[in-house]
Amino acid sequence: MNTEKPQCFSCLYMDRRPESGMNTGLIFCQRKKLVLRPKAECPIYVRATVQNRESFNASIYGTMAAEEME
Ligand code: SF4
Repeated sequence: MNTEKPQCFSCLYMDRRPESGMNTGLIFCQRKKLVLRPKAECPIYVRATVQNRESFNASIYGTMAAEEME
């Protein structure tokens, strides 16, 4: 049996939306645009590093942080 954590928990595309019902164990996948059960293996998994998370957040949320600096 695979005892590792599901890949979703370290994936760039995972979004823990409060409204998606984390208490039911579900997560939202930004890539698939779906609420789903965390997967043990995913062919489109991308490891969330600090750097690619920042650039991904910038791509979906814009550069608000930079604008707030003004
Ligand atoms: S891309 Fe795959 S591993 Fe990443 S959150 Fe979506 S379903 Fe999970």
